[in-house]
Amino acid sequence: MGYDYKQLREDMDRFLGRFPFAQNSIIGYSVMKNPIHCIKIGDGDTKIFINCAHHGLEYLTSAFIMRFLREYAAAIKCGGDFFGYNAADLRRQITLYVVPMVNPDGVDIAVNGLDITNPYHQRLISLVGIHSFNRVWQANARGVDINHNYNAGWRVVKTKPSPTQYSGPYSESEPETKAIVDFIRKEKFDLLIAFHSQGGEIYYDFDGMVAENSRVLAEKMAQASGYAVCTPVGSAAFGGCKDWFIKEFGKAGFTVEIGHGKNPLPMEQLDEIYEENARLILSSVEELHEQA
Ligand SMILES: [Zn+2]
Repeated sequence: MGYDYKQLREDMDRFLGRFPFAQNSIIGYSVMKNPIHCIKIGDGDTKIFINCAHHGLEYLTSAFIMRFLREYAAAIKCGGDFFGYNAADLRRQITLYVVPMVNPDGVDIAVNGLDITNPYHQRLISLVGIHSFNRVWQANARGVDINHNYNAGWRVVKTKPSPTQYSGPYSESEPETKAIVDFIRKEKFDLLIAFHSQGGEIYYDFDGMVAENSRVLAEKMAQASGYAVCTPVGSAAFGGCKDWFIKEFGKAGFTVEIGHGKNPLPMEQLDEIYEENARLILSSVEELHEQA
């Protein structure tokens, strides 16, 4: 069992019905014209951007962040405590923007496999030359790895569409990448966290570039979650969302690899992952405020 786009939409509908103070917007559309949603909570000066599921097999990041939003909103609604923080204070201090699923098409392929009646899917079969897509698919519906498609050291690793690591014909060629880039340019965030799986790791630099406060933030996040602070090597080291954010704005951007094991991570890890990463997010918020 996975967590696909339909399930996300159902979760979002329930969530938005229950917590009217949360706002939903559409920041763009995927290759297959699925809306890419963003949920906004809070009205503080500090703007935090969280995004999940750049990669198809990493849908547990979406399930985790929806749970985070639900529990946070519930704590706001009843004026309660959220992991030792006052939820109402958090809402006043920060504006949280969450894109729970950057790559809805890829997640659907990873969870449900290909539908041969779908023209996009027929094209993938001929392009990529494999027929069994579930449990391998990380890319979007055109076989481009969105997290290698950003304009940050963009280069060719693979020459054709693939389940993973094809950077695309040029940087920002994909509508999902464009949606995120345009949104970030418009909103100008203080902090970005891109959730991936797996490994229990926190990445905070791009090609030696770091924001002044990044290392300290990464260490706080590591302390809160039990994850390790890491420097990327090899193909993971360029073209990603946090890479572009660091390069373009000089602000603190992170890739956090949740959980341990093999993708797709089993739903049984959700409780543990929720606890670790709720604390991770909140520790970064606290540290940002102590620095300010
Ligand atoms: Zn990933």
